[in-house]
Amino acid sequence: MMSPKKNTADVFDITFVGAGPTGLFGAFYAGLREMKVKIIDALPQPGGQLIALYPDKLIYDTPGFPSILSKELASCLTEQASQWKPFMALGERALELKRTPLPGGDDGQECWIIETDKDIHYSRTVVIAAGIGAFRPNKLKNESISLFEGKGVEYWVNDVDDYAGMRVLIIGGGDSAVDWSLALEPIAEHVTLIHRREGFRAHDTSVNALKDSSVDTRIFYELREFQGNESLERAVIFDNRTGDESTIEVDAGILALGFKADLGPIREWGLETIGRRYIKVNSKMETNLPGIYAAGDVALQEELDPLNLIVVGYGQVTVAVNYAYAAIKPGEKVFPGHSSERVAD
Ligand SMILES: Cc1cc2nc3c(=O)[nH]c(=O)nc-3n(C[C@H](O)[C@H](O)[C@H](O)COP(=O)(O)OP(=O)(O)OC[C@H]3O[C@@H](n4cnc5c(N)ncnc54)[C@H](O)[C@@H]3O)c2cc1C
Repeated sequence: MMSPKKNTADVFDITFVGAGPTGLFGAFYAGLREMKVKIIDALPQPGGQLIALYPDKLIYDTPGFPSILSKELASCLTEQASQWKPFMALGERALELKRTPLPGGDDGQECWIIETDKDIHYSRTVVIAAGIGAFRPNKLKNESISLFEGKGVEYWVNDVDDYAGMRVLIIGGGDSAVDWSLALEPIAEHVTLIHRREGFRAHDTSVNALKDSSVDTRIFYELREFQGNESLERAVIFDNRTGDESTIEVDAGILALGFKADLGPIREWGLETIGRRYIKVNSKMETNLPGIYAAGDVALQEELDPLNLIVVGYGQVTVAVNYAYAAIKPGEKVFPGHSSERVAD
């Protein structure tokens, strides 16, 4: 049952479910075609796998860049998409997709509703660019954590300035844990990083920078408990070799434990699929539902093998956007002309 949430019935021309490289490039392309664009992503930051799974790896097969750090590519794609000011609904997981009468439209006209865990969104067309599924943070089994979620405990650093002057505990041993420790070091009053075993799964340069930094790095340490009243005040941590506990004063705890992805509710949207992982598309990137397209890692044509690469997603989403454009603007061409004839205001 779709309950009205805070959004008004503002109908977009095209909505991308997924702000990975495919959704971001698609949003740019749709803006280029002067479509009214929205992007929805479960993560609080755009970039998909580039930022959630391998932010500090170099990518060598992106056209125009002999090599580029994954997080930098995500940032370039976001900047490119942002020039047309798409509506970004970040931190929202798309749960349901339904056909509905077009608000303010003539009799018989319809559009799509996407209901997320926070809002409802109206769109004439939808491109599902959901990759391997909505990313959700891995969590620790520890009751004290849930008591302070949103009251000092977070799974993602949106803006390092939010931590100015704070005492921060970061938990994790991957790229994000190390990168966020280094990013917060000059801003926070004090940063402690704990990791349950020896060796970080992070870029060598970052690990070396960590060694040279003032971050209080403790390996073989784990969280016993967060403590506080209205908000987080302390963390009890322990050495997992000896069981020795220490209590540290903290204002913020960041759990950087990686992400898991799950297509979840998208499987219930009435889309034809290939296996459990892929949405079936034709050569126009159309699914079996009218006005619903799919592109990138989530999409597959029956006669092809999967080619889950960033560049393939760019091509597929360009096809999807141009066909979606022609579908809602009868008489207009699928071919967009050349971008060199069009510049942002
Ligand atoms: C370690 C590693 C290294 C790689 N190296 C390369 C490389 O060198 N070159 C290359 O070309 N490719 C590489 N890839 C593959 C590449 O990252 C993917 O092909 C690419 O990210 C696919 O982009 P996408 O936008 O289709 O999907 P994704 O990047 O997976 O983005 C999908 C987005 O959709 C969101 N989403 C999904 N479902 C929902 C929902 N229901 N509601 C809201 N949001 C949702 C997710 O949160 C996610 O942000 C690598 C992959 C890995 C794991």
